[in-house]
Amino acid sequence: MDANKYSCPNCGSGNTASIPLVYKRGHATGNATHREVVSYNVQTTTTTYGDGHKETEETGRTPVYGNVTRPTYTETDLAKEVAPPTPPDEPQLIQSGYDFVALGCGSIGCLFPFLMLVAYVILKYFIKTPMTQSAWDNVSYLIFATVVFLVVYNIYTTKKLNTRHKKEHAIAMEEYKKQMEEYYRSVEDWQHLYICNRCGCKFRVDD
Ligand SMILES: [Zn+2]
Repeated sequence: MDANKYSCPNCGSGNTASIPLVYKRGHATGNATHREVVSYNVQTTTTTYGDGHKETEETGRTPVYGNVTRPTYTETDLAKEVAPPTPPDEPQLIQSGYDFVALGCGSIGCLFPFLMLVAYVILKYFIKTPMTQSAWDNVSYLIFATVVFLVVYNIYTTKKLNTRHKKEHAIAMEEYKKQMEEYYRSVEDWQHLYICNRCGCKFRVDD
């Protein structure tokens, strides 16, 4: 074994250590159980007075202890310094879905009668038009056409938005792939890193 390649290239010290090993020793996860006060027993005393009325007052509290387990994470400053690279976040695809049943029922079942009511109020109280059957038919056709238009327009814009999100996501995924390759390279590099315990210099040693 060539001992020299493990010596610090900065100060020549042989007191060096593998960075993944330093990291492993410097951080730990586990559970810690402590005895803690979980509740109190409250003592009360009730006094009955001569006139018959009673009064209850707190006369003491005794703490009740129990075992409480919590997850622990400990990390030394050194472990923090030699931590492995963190992976990039994967881009998420946002897609709006259409629920045709809800869209259709909502538009025809709610929007249509609502617009008919608005038209009725406006025509009767503001314009004061005598509403014949054919006039009503025209109004309802007009409103029905508007509702259909709104539904179609909504589907069209949602589709357009989804297409744009898909394109943006594809570009982000390309970028993410590059970042992941870079990440794997840096992890591979990290696994071969050594640290000098004398001067803190980090260097790579290939086996
Ligand atoms: Zn050194």
